[in-house]
Amino acid sequence: MRIILLGAPGAGKGTVAKLLTAHDGSVQISTGDILRGAVKAGTALGKEAKGHMDSGGLVPDELIMNIMGERLQEDDCKKGFLLDGFPRTIPQADALGEMLDKLNIKLDLVANIDVPRDVILDRLTTRRTCSNTDCQEIYNVKSNPPAEGDKCKKCGSPVIQRADETVEAINKRLDVYNEKTAPLAGYYEKKGMLLTIKEASSDGVLKAIVDGVNAK
Ligand code: ADP
Ligand code: ZN
Repeated sequence: MRIILLGAPGAGKGTVAKLLTAHDGSVQISTGDILRGAVKAGTALGKEAKGHMDSGGLVPDELIMNIMGERLQEDDCKKGFLLDGFPRTIPQADALGEMLDKLNIKLDLVANIDVPRDVILDRLTTRRTCSNTDCQEIYNVKSNPPAEGDKCKKCGSPVIQRADETVEAINKRLDVYNEKTAPLAGYYEKKGMLLTIKEASSDGVLKAIVDGVNAK
């Protein structure tokens, strides 16, 4: 399938993307993961992105479009792709539309995962992430804690709280989301592509997306 996952930070886009990959082999493309990889590797891109990311702001559209223009042409995208964290602004959505037209690719739908703000705040402040950029397994101190000594159960690396997961940065990210990204719901609604999902569980969201794609 070829879909966009829309939803605030903490709505569960990454978790659902992993379930969808297991379901039909479509590749998860997370701009957040790509950027964190670049920061860790110390590339020019990473150096430019880091400040924006740590403060909870957005990385400039042009940088993101350079990354995605290349990524979407890689071979594995032929299996289908799940865009997680992209597009994040109307200009990114416009540029993506042009890019997909040129590549002759049609999206199945845009899944808007709609989760109340209090649930999101609770999820984000309790979230922990494996520090190994090749792993990035997500944990939750309440519902899914890491192994003894805050170690990743998959790879043994330290599990940490991301710099952008402090309360200040989280509030900033939610404000940025409401201002810059939430308008994309109306944008895709007008194009007849939007599927809004209010399921609480990841499995519920998964089923709604699979049903929505099959109904096309
Ligand atoms: P979240 O958990 O907030 O959805 P991500 O892992 O998707 O976060 O992204 C982390 C950070 O990377 C964002 O706060 C932002 O600074 C940057 N980022 C990721 N994707 C984009 C994008 N499409 N446009 C601009 N900035 C982005
Ligand atoms: Zn790990």
